[in-house]
Amino acid sequence: MECKKVLVVDDQYGIRILVKEVFSKYPLQVLQAANGMQALEIVQSDRPDLILLDMKMPGMDGLEILRRLKKMDETLKVIMMTAYGELDMVEKATHLGALAHFTKPFDIEDLCNEVIRQLAS
Ligand SMILES: [Mg+2]
Repeated sequence: MECKKVLVVDDQYGIRILVKEVFSKYPLQVLQAANGMQALEIVQSDRPDLILLDMKMPGMDGLEILRRLKKMDETLKVIMMTAYGELDMVEKATHLGALAHFTKPFDIEDLCNEVIRQLAS
């Protein structure tokens, strides 16, 4: 697999580091954003192949970010990271074109496998 770029957007530093660490065994470049504004900037400058997007963040929430990302480029691959009980938001995200969602606390290996699978398709 060629070196692809994955952007992880989460206000929790621990999640960003976990993703970065687990993905380090793959030829992937992991970019990080702590909020929506950073995420939109990085997407414009680095054009990641896939985005892992937290639903709940201070400021712009995941749905609003997803909406803006899809307006920028409809083909962007986005996987949501949600909290328990956010089914309503998951439904909206799916409607907006998110490929999948993982409920925290998720198994990082499951998430990793899904990312690899989506990058290959
Ligand atoms: Mg959060």
